[in-house]
Amino acid sequence: MSHSENCIFCKIAAGSIPSRKVYEDDELFAFDDIHPWAPVHFLLIPKAHIASMAQVGPEHAALLGRMLVLAPQLALQQGCQPYPEGGFRIVVNTGALGGQEVHHMHFHVLGGPRPWLKDRPV
Ligand code: AMP
Ligand code: ZN
Repeated sequence: MSHSENCIFCKIAAGSIPSRKVYEDDELFAFDDIHPWAPVHFLLIPKAHIASMAQVGPEHAALLGRMLVLAPQLALQQGCQPYPEGGFRIVVNTGALGGQEVHHMHFHVLGGPRPWLKDRPV
């Protein structure tokens, strides 16, 4: 599995930087965002270092599929209300103009009681 030296999310996935862990398996790791934009706000990452969605290729299809299947399950576990009255957002900032600050691909999963988007457009 590829890791990038000095990548904060590689270190979080490896446990060498502490986080509030939401989920872990052999390929994926999820943890609370340190500066939440919403009552529920966690990040879901692959343990392997992929810099961004712009670097994703066909070899990552199964991994990304697993992330998309897992995110709704974790959203419910973390306190998002069920669809259709409840729900959540999955946001993947990509590149400088996409608002990406940490260059290890991650899904933001955001939810909980609104309003919480008015001050932070995503
Ligand atoms: P992005 O702008 O999409 O790259 O988002 C990076 C996110 O990582 C931001 O929402 C930060 O609050 C979050 N973040 C940065 N460092 C940490 C950390 N050590 N633990 C948890 N979340 C972090
Ligand atoms: Zn990384």
